[in-house]
Amino acid sequence: MFPDKLTEGYRAFLENRFPSESRRYAQLARTQDPDVLVIGCCDSRVSPEVIFDVGPGELFVIRNVANIVPPCETGGEYHGTSAAIEFAVQALAVTHIVVLGHATCGGIKAYADKAKPLSPGNFIGKWVSLVKPAEEKAGDSSAPDYLTRMEHAMVSQSIENLMTFPFIRERVEAGTLHLHGAHFGVASGDLLVRNAETGDFAPITDAAGQRLSPATLIRCT
Ligand SMILES: [Zn+2]
Repeated sequence: MFPDKLTEGYRAFLENRFPSESRRYAQLARTQDPDVLVIGCCDSRVSPEVIFDVGPGELFVIRNVANIVPPCETGGEYHGTSAAIEFAVQALAVTHIVVLGHATCGGIKAYADKAKPLSPGNFIGKWVSLVKPAEEKAGDSSAPDYLTRMEHAMVSQSIENLMTFPFIRERVEAGTLHLHGAHFGVASGDLLVRNAETGDFAPITDAAGQRLSPATLIRCT
């Protein structure tokens, strides 16, 4: 039987969101034109559509274990992430790519802990071997914030890897595509944004320079 959770969720969608967004869906049936590609982790707690409060058609989203962008390489066999990046940039012409990391990332932890394979294929182990350059950037592995630093470093590494795709590098250098990094705090609700010059992560601010965080925005009613 189809999962009740999803059946009831769909009922709520039909009763609430779909009536209010049906015109938008009708438009989207003809074409999609998202401006932003988000590359995030498949972790169930880090849904870009929820965090950024967007409707249908607004974000093109790629999710994989540990929000990893592999370096551009044409060998091997299957390139799910690279294929989706290629489509978003070359066909949809997105103007922003956001790599979204998050706190308590199981993929990063699996790499750091040298976790045992979950199946003979060791799919996770092979995939998260791409975290290695981030490990080298994260510094002292005995420090208490090591995993957080590795999560940040992986966002930076994915951005670096994006630049190895010629069609991305060309657009970035032409100023028609902009690369960003961010990190979501899960329990805290904090969203940190990567400074492109320093590589540091700091709380996001709005266009007026106001810091957006649960501490500054949540009002008790
Ligand atoms: Zn994760």
